Order: sequence, then C-alpha cells, then structure tokens
Amino acid sequence: MTTETLAGLMAAARKQLSEAGIETASLDVRLLLQAATGFAHEDLIVMPNTAIEPRAAVLFKAYIARRLNHEPVSRILGTREFYGRPFAVSPAVLDPRPDTEVVVELALKHMRAGRFIDLGTGSGAIAITLCAENPHLEGIATDVSPEALSIAAENANTLGVSNRLQFIQSNWFEQIEGQFDLIISNPPYIKRAENLPPEVKNFDPHLALFGGEDGLNSYRAIASGAAARLAQGGLIVVEIGHDQAAKVVEISKLCDLMLFDRVADLGGRDRGLAFRRP
Ligand code: GLN
Repeated sequence: MTTETLAGLMAAARKQLSEAGIETASLDVRLLLQAATGFAHEDLIVMPNTAIEPRAAVLFKAYIARRLNHEPVSRILGTREFYGRPFAVSPAVLDPRPDTEVVVELALKHMRAGRFIDLGTGSGAIAITLCAENPHLEGIATDVSPEALSIAAENANTLGVSNRLQFIQSNWFEQIEGQFDLIISNPPYIKRAENLPPEVKNFDPHLALFGGEDGLNSYRAIASGAAARLAQGGLIVVEIGHDQAAKVVEISKLCDLMLFDRVADLGGRDRGLAFRRP
C-alpha cells in the first residue's frame, strides 16, 4: 500500500472541493487536515512530504466527504472561533457568525457595567463574550432549546465566565423576571421564503433561523417585552438582516423605543441597531 503524504492528501482534497464549487476549498482543506493529523499550519508548508498515518488519512477523508455534502467546517470539527475565543457548537445551535461580533461590539461600546439578558443565546456567543470582555457585566442567557442551553453552559464554563451567567429556558421573556440594563439578541430573522445556501439550510437549526412570514416576529416579541423588562436608562441591541433596519425601527417606535446607534457588518451592510426609551 502506498503511504499518503500531507501534500498529496491536500492536493486531492482541494481538487474535490473546488470541483464541487466550494469557494473556500484551500482554507477548508487546511483546517480539516490540521485537525485530522495534529500538524500545524507551518508543518503543512515546510514538510509537505511527511507520510500520514493511515488512521489520520481515513479521518481526513471522512471530513472531506462531509464538507462535500456542504457541512460547514465548524460543524465537522464541533468548534468555531468567535471574538477570538473557541466555542463548542452542536446541531442544536446556530453557528456563530463573524457578523455578530460587530453587534457585541456595539453593546460593549455603550455598556460599562450592569445586568443584561441575551435572548436566544444558542452557543452563548453573545452572552459569554460580553462577560469575557467586560468583568463588570453579568446576566442571563435564555434559549427555548435545552440542548442549546447545555452547549452554552459548557462554553461559559470553558471560557471561565459561568459565575456571572445564569441560563434559563424561556421563549423570549416568558420565564423571566426583573429588569435589565441591556437586552440583547441575535434573533431568528430570516423570512420564510428566503433562499439559503445548503451550509445554512441543512445544518443550522431552523428554530434559530426563521422569524416568521416576514422575518420580523422576533423583533415584535423583543420590543413589546421591553416595557416590563428594560430598566430605566437601559438599552436594547439587536442584530438584524441587511434589509430590515427601517422595519425594525418602526416596530420599536410603536413600543416607545428610539434608535440611537447602529453598526454595519464586515460587508458594509446594516447589522446591529441600538435603542433606548427616551
Ligand atoms: N445568539 C446566538 C448567536 O448569535 C444564536 C442566535 C440564534 O440562534 N439566532 O450566535
């Protein structure tokens, strides 16, 4: 049997992924090969002719088969980096996106200290990052899915912030008491009819993606809940779809919430809005 080398495995897999139309073929192959073999990025460059153990080669090929089926690399490896920290992900949670980092930044810019609630926390990316970035913040992270909450709690533990985060299973504010200085959410906001790539449609939980017929149901729930749950002088920060700003501002106005800051994502499109009650 011929032994396979790093370079040989890499070239073959790159070709397969490129032919399948996967635009990030090179990066994906590199990450999956590093994970399967334990080699570092430099190793792949400086020792391309290294022989790979058959077990690692089999594992790598299994990873590539999954990627060919459009499963994202983060799901194959069960981990995704968000705001510079590794988050465990499972089929029960939305794969945290780089776009959401700007929404966290928007909240951090306006919150020096206080108590927050992260509605629909998923992997816990938002709530955990808030606590990790600012030691004066503490809060509650909710989700309707108990499986999601258990991943989020695991992430909070690993990233050392579980002493400032409480996890509650709740549909929006239903099981929640008290008031918060910050209400934050990256809610499900995709319209029912929207076309999604297979990476998203087949692997992100639909509960985390779809926000009803017009994609705006989540914002109605959040804005109407604010009357009882937003502390005096508190703020609301939400992630939105790129074409939803005007609609979300309108919904919030009906609940006496005024837009006072906004942020664009890495592609320059509207992504985060901040509201206050005047
Ligand atoms: N809050 C999580 C995130 O931003 C999950 C969001 C969701 O499931 N819609 O990644």
